[in-house]
Amino acid sequence: MDTTADPEGLKGYSGVWVLGEQKAGVVQPISFELLARARALADIRRVPLTAVMLGRTGEEGLRDLIRRGADRVLAVEAPELEVFLPEPHARTLEHLIRRHKPEILIAGATSTGRTLMPLVAVKCHAGLTADCTSLAIEEGTGNLLQIRPAIGGNIMATIKSPAHRPQLATVRPRSMKPAPADPARTGEVVRETVPAELLRSRVRRLSFEGASGTAGVNIEEADVVVSGGKGLKKRENMALILKLAEALHAGVGASRDAVDRGWIGYPHQVGLSGKTVSPKLYLCFGISGSIQHLAGIKTAETIVAVNTNPEAQIFKVANFGIVGDLFEVIPALMRRLEQRRSRRK
Ligand code: FAD
Repeated sequence: MDTTADPEGLKGYSGVWVLGEQKAGVVQPISFELLARARALADIRRVPLTAVMLGRTGEEGLRDLIRRGADRVLAVEAPELEVFLPEPHARTLEHLIRRHKPEILIAGATSTGRTLMPLVAVKCHAGLTADCTSLAIEEGTGNLLQIRPAIGGNIMATIKSPAHRPQLATVRPRSMKPAPADPARTGEVVRETVPAELLRSRVRRLSFEGASGTAGVNIEEADVVVSGGKGLKKRENMALILKLAEALHAGVGASRDAVDRGWIGYPHQVGLSGKTVSPKLYLCFGISGSIQHLAGIKTAETIVAVNTNPEAQIFKVANFGIVGDLFEVIPALMRRLEQRRSRRK
């Protein structure tokens, strides 16, 4: 995909930015994943790498961004930016972009990034590619190559926006390991203020209620994920997956077929049009291993699959495979876990 070149629109834009995220003042891991990607891009472009932090982040958190690859941190601290609200965040980011003119800005394809970046793209009249799995710099032009699965995951599309700056992209969480901290790295923290009128919002957050129990575990951050697919046959059988997940303190995942049938909610969907998970252990039951499902478990460390069909695609990527009936295997696993627990008592 290409658009008509407009060299006038590119003048004065330089530097790579990442949009960091904080929750209650704590820098979120997505920020470090973005730094790992963006450091490589900035080095190729030979430009500085800036991490933008909106809201209140402690000095230590800001310094950590430098230790993990940022040359500079641009921090805007205002009570209105402490929790994510689209209007003040979008106006603040637009303000910073117009003032500093970065050539590239990447954010996480998190709920914040997915909501914020389209607004910023419209305000700055810039191109945006959502949900990239890879980013690169085009030789010769220096354009950002934004790579993501397209057409149901059957092709990898490379998208660029040569006529507009900044080039905006969101990147899937957990699709890259976080940049490690190097205590010797140095950089500057720049605190900026923005005009008060930019911080107004028509929306107020009154309270926040997180989901509770196993079903509430965020599968993108879980060390263990237990997933169920159409092989579960009916909604009531999803209880087997929930029970096993609870016993393993794991998150609950599902294939799209299980989600489409209403057996569990969309936040649990793993795959191309769901979430990318990166657990140490991914256990999946009655999932065939479609290309779209596999797109979400590429970075899982160990995959264990249970399927009655020895030819199932999932066995091609699984580290351990059990050709068997999930209705026998899950109860057997539960019994073993129970035995181990009672032995420990
Ligand atoms: P099936 O493919 O029907 O597999 C069920 C499996 O269960 C079979 O392998 C069967 O052998 C096994 N089984 C049956 N009974 C038992 C038993 N008793 N014990 C053990 N195993 C048993 N899919 C996703 O998962 N995530 C996505 O994000 C996603 N995005 C998509 C985006 C697009 C644009 C498109 C076109 C499709 C997408 N899909 C996605 C759908 C995908 O193509 C598959 O349809 C889906 O992954 C299949 O789900 P499944 O493995 O649960 O079902």
